[in-house]
Amino acid sequence: MTILRDDFNEVAKRTLAARVGNTCSNPDCRAVTSGPQDDPLKALNVGVAAHITGAAPGGPRYNAALTADQRSHPDNGIWLCQICAKLVDNDTLQFPEDVLRAWKTLAEYRARSVIGKAVDQGAMGERERSELIRQQTLALLTPVLVLIKREALAVVEYSVENHGAGVALAVKANYRGRNLEHIFISHNILGPNRSAVIALCWETLQADGMHLRYESRDGRFFVTTAFAKGLELHQTAFEVDAKGGYLSQPRLVPERTD
Ligand SMILES: [Zn+2]
Repeated sequence: MTILRDDFNEVAKRTLAARVGNTCSNPDCRAVTSGPQDDPLKALNVGVAAHITGAAPGGPRYNAALTADQRSHPDNGIWLCQICAKLVDNDTLQFPEDVLRAWKTLAEYRARSVIGKAVDQGAMGERERSELIRQQTLALLTPVLVLIKREALAVVEYSVENHGAGVALAVKANYRGRNLEHIFISHNILGPNRSAVIALCWETLQADGMHLRYESRDGRFFVTTAFAKGLELHQTAFEVDAKGGYLSQPRLVPERTD
């Protein structure tokens, strides 16, 4: 039986490779993917135009909502070495769509900043690391931002900046006509096993305040919300997926003591 795959054409593949300077887009790898063969007429390629969302039903990160043209468009591709291409398709929990998009943005950022220039590798490394932390933080925040928008919990603006190993999140939210601002520092975004933890919350001290705590860890996303009604506190906890959808139904939890 033939399975229909929405593969990239040769032009799309060459474009994806050239946009990242023929290097693997995994920031922890960056292998050069092309070089010479013994035959002076031939070049060697160890790069792959990998699909961000799968080329066929059942494939890694497959998104049924896309058309065939969208699925085979360079927007849905990322240039990787053969080893990294296998890695991201074998572990879609650790390498979801958002992480691959962050890698792609970073790899293109890097290629754009070095094109036509002699590069100071040391200074470049620091800037890249900084951008990587920022991109990964944005990817980790996606579920809760989608959730907030969908449930119309609040109007939120945010920016992410890194400071050394940590990340500063500047969050502004408007909840029931009140403007709230909070800055949170989070660590270990690039820690062992990508066990990133981000806590994002805001609250008002008024009687009908809202408190939202968000944690992203090991590819799972947890949300706790608390609404005060008079002196009563209504607190729920639940898990969401990478798209902000409910994985567990919000349930009432005992009041936190911290
Ligand atoms: Zn690689």
